[in-house]
Amino acid sequence: MLLKRFRATNYRNILHCDIAFETGVNILLGSNAQGKTNALEGIYYFARGKGFRTSSDSDLVRFGEDGFETSILFDSDGREQSLFYSFENGKRVRQRNGHAVKLTEMIGHFRAVLFYPEHLQIVKAGPEKRREFLNIAISQNDRTYVGYYGEYAKILENRNCLLKLAQKGGYVDLNELVAWSQKMAECAAHVYVARKRYIAGLSPIASLILSDISSSKEQMALRYIADVEADTFEEAYAAYEKLLTEDLSRECLAGCSLYGVHRDDMDILCGGISARSFASQGQQRSAVLALKLAEGEYSHTLSGEYPVFLFDDVLSELDESRRQYVLRQAQNKQMILTSCDLGENFHAFHRVLVEGGTYVSTHR
Ligand code: ATP
Ligand code: MG
Repeated sequence: MLLKRFRATNYRNILHCDIAFETGVNILLGSNAQGKTNALEGIYYFARGKGFRTSSDSDLVRFGEDGFETSILFDSDGREQSLFYSFENGKRVRQRNGHAVKLTEMIGHFRAVLFYPEHLQIVKAGPEKRREFLNIAISQNDRTYVGYYGEYAKILENRNCLLKLAQKGGYVDLNELVAWSQKMAECAAHVYVARKRYIAGLSPIASLILSDISSSKEQMALRYIADVEADTFEEAYAAYEKLLTEDLSRECLAGCSLYGVHRDDMDILCGGISARSFASQGQQRSAVLALKLAEGEYSHTLSGEYPVFLFDDVLSELDESRRQYVLRQAQNKQMILTSCDLGENFHAFHRVLVEGGTYVSTHR
């Protein structure tokens, strides 16, 4: 995957930009509040389908304007491709190679791994952040996942409405509740199988990377935590169906769904113990770095192509040996990173000077 251009109009603090990127390391270099993260956010939008700092598209519109336009040009699968997105007065237009597409058809073509300081929360915070990490990583490599997860979320909402009604003493048709439970079990089983497979593939890669970057040669392991244990889709479906139909009276009392993939978690173990509870700040940072680099490696294994690595404000947080490790990783890949300072060997890389929403390339 090679990102060649990012164009934007009236996006965040960008009036208009057309930034060209190269293979290897590209550094967006500029003082605070100039538009470095804004550019990464605009690029990553095409991988994730929404902004990573806001879920509201209207926040992305340049103050005082009615809408924005963004587009990327990239090489993938041996050919040049484009994605376009515009948002104006609440109306969205998405195009892939010049043809209108839906959101679900846009995701999965341009693959990128984002790493920014808040991603430390993947290790530190509650399970929601780890589920989000899995959802984003898996959906870029498995387009059916977005559909199953989206459907699961809708079914969960409907099922929870019925359970809430039952909790308040309202009339609920038991057959209807069972029907929702069966539909939910089917989607849950698809999500379960995809997450289980993904974690099993990611874990050994993350462990190798962590051992490479940590002087202590730490081992890392990822363990899927779910309400069921199954090896196949059929087994998972049967287990979720049982779970979601056999405890309905307790769920009615609770007024919400007590089981399902919306409660999943992923244990991140370093040296056999939970990184969330026991790792130091530096170890947690290394664990997330290993996780993010592994996400890219595994995406390469699955798709045959490396995703574009977008590293926002990450280098300054790393010590020199880890910084050098990250920069070495960019060989045969593409990495776009942001920095406020001109680092020691940055002269060797393609730099884009960022000032007040303008971007000027400085070649090596
Ligand atoms: P830092 O080094 O501090 O992370 P940065 O270069 O990454 O800085 P950005 O996050 O890209 O900075 O933000 C640049 C500027 O864009 C900020 O001053 C911010 O207030 C401004 N900005 C954000 N949203 C909008 C918007 N919708 N319209 C206009 N300006 C905006
Ligand atoms: Mg920034």
